[in-house]
Amino acid sequence: MFSCRQIYDLITEYDEGGLTESGRRQFEQHVVICPPCRGFVSQMRATRERLGQDAPTFPVELEESIVNAFRSWKEKGS
Ligand SMILES: [Zn+2]
Repeated sequence: MFSCRQIYDLITEYDEGGLTESGRRQFEQHVVICPPCRGFVSQMRATRERLGQDAPTFPVELEESIVNAFRSWKEKGS
C-alpha cells in the first residue's frame, strides 16, 4: 500500500500511464480509502482540465466502490 506522500509523488505518473499495473492498483486502493488523497487527486485533475490537458477519470465501477466504501465507513463510525 502506498503512503500519502507516495500518492502525491506518483499522481502525474499515474495519470500519464507511467505506473506498472500493480502500481496503479496500489494507487487506486489508497485513493479509495483515503479521503484527503481523493480530494488531492480530484483537485489535480480539475487543475489540469483548466489547463486544457487530458484528465483521465477513474472507471465508473471504481467510483461506485468509493461511494460504497464511504457509506459503510460512515455506518461503522457512528
Ligand atoms: Zn492518502
